Amino acid sequence: MIIIKNSEQIALMKKAGQITAEALLLARDLVRPGISTKEIDTKIHAFITKCGAVPSFLGYGGFPGSACISINDEVIHGIPSAKRILNEGDIVKIDVGARYRGYNGDSARTFPVGKVSDEALRLISVTEQSFYEAMKFAKAGNRVGDIGSAVENFVISNGFSVVKEYVGHGVGAELHEDPSVPNYGKAGKGARLYPGMTLAIEPMVNAGVEGVKVLKDGWTVKTLDGKLSAHYENSILITEGDPIMLTVVS
Ligand code: MG
Ligand code: MG
Repeated sequence: MIIIKNSEQIALMKKAGQITAEALLLARDLVRPGISTKEIDTKIHAFITKCGAVPSFLGYGGFPGSACISINDEVIHGIPSAKRILNEGDIVKIDVGARYRGYNGDSARTFPVGKVSDEALRLISVTEQSFYEAMKFAKAGNRVGDIGSAVENFVISNGFSVVKEYVGHGVGAELHEDPSVPNYGKAGKGARLYPGMTLAIEPMVNAGVEGVKVLKDGWTVKTLDGKLSAHYENSILITEGDPIMLTVVS
């Protein structure tokens, strides 16, 4: 069931989104060679808690961290660990959720660690741009398939592939709500968009093949071919006009 949010709920989601966005800015400033993913996670946890919010991911389905932190060929759902140290030339995906007075924000970025390859920078950039391609179609009256096809067409035209096993989603009182928002699809198909829908749009883009696998830890998703993957996500509000970004610092 797709839940349309009222103005009170949207106000809470903006607050949750702001905390989420600020946590990601903090994470960005921590990213450097030599830091462990656990240290980044610990600081994200402290920040979200200090804001009077709760890390949405902590304990979700048993997830042990406050953020998902995934390196290089890890696509999503990396578990923060004191043993995972960022190295010069890595790219790191940090995915954060904050729940404020019952409502969630969900956002992810991919950061370069020190100096990275031109190909890695291009992958990060195309992934971010594919999100903004989707935004052109994220308005009332359009359909979920318009979003997915915009992401997929842009990514493929740049020589990369989209992950199909994991998708964007509605977001609100639940971290994952209807509808599913795949990063592929057919324009004009799928659920119709209405004002007051809140969605987490999150292109996951692989440099090589689209296939992924889950590691034995039960969480970490990796590319099948061991090539790089990037992730970019914001929670947004659908309106009659341009979408409103919820996971931003105002
Ligand atoms: Mg996320
Ligand atoms: Mg999400």
